[in-house]
Amino acid sequence: MKDVPPLLEVASIAYAYAGAEAVRNVSLTVGQGEIVALLGANGAGKTTSVKMIAGVLRPSGGRIALNGAELAGAPSHVVVRRGITLVPEGRLVFPQITVLENLQMGAHVQRDAARVADLIERAFVTFPRLGERRRQLAGSMSGGEQQMLAIARGLMSSPKLIILDEPSLGLMPSMTADLFRLIGTINAGGAGVLLVEQNLHQSLRIAYRGYVLEKGEVVLAGTGSELLGNDYVRRAFLGG
Ligand code: ATP
Repeated sequence: MKDVPPLLEVASIAYAYAGAEAVRNVSLTVGQGEIVALLGANGAGKTTSVKMIAGVLRPSGGRIALNGAELAGAPSHVVVRRGITLVPEGRLVFPQITVLENLQMGAHVQRDAARVADLIERAFVTFPRLGERRRQLAGSMSGGEQQMLAIARGLMSSPKLIILDEPSLGLMPSMTADLFRLIGTINAGGAGVLLVEQNLHQSLRIAYRGYVLEKGEVVLAGTGSELLGNDYVRRAFLGG
């Protein structure tokens, strides 16, 4: 039997901002149904890498394939239709419209109104707080609730792979715990997850595998427990 390709395969992508190299050489895979963590200090190139995967930035070289099909510099609206959604850093919800309207906007790639209604109902089951607040203006919710909305909106396009860029940044610890539980629920629903995080402990507890970036390159890769036990990771991230 022929091997099934990974859900996402990234090979040697690179990007420079106005001549300044931000990502030199990043290769990674996300298997079918996997949660994979992308780790690294500020400025390591994590956001630039996921923006390339999502078609927001065009790589200067390398390959990106979803289920074996090349995405090759496709723009973000095409990448979303193909099944990859990026939930960017910083909870970018539309503050002046309601929770429900934010979700409807996230569903713009869906052509069938019944499907949109079904996805919204499912979002309210997964995120009950959003259901309670469906008519509230998104900007009036707490930071944690807005992050949940940003993720719920990302799920409206029924992604095969959802990329979450630092979803726990600035959240209270109780909210962070909820968030990580939710990521598990999303994954159990069948979507692969690429999780960009600085919260190493929590992300490696739910991720099957992780990659560590430094200065635009992958310097380490391994299972969650391998990375947590690694001396370099301990020194660089865990203060010991
Ligand atoms: P952070 O956790 O701070 O978001 P990161 O690992 O996601 O860090 P990137 O945001 O990808 O890292 O940044 C990688 C490098 O590219 C850094 O040196 C950064 O200063 C630079 N960079 C990022 N965005 C831009 C931009 N729009 N213009 C110029 N340089 C940029």
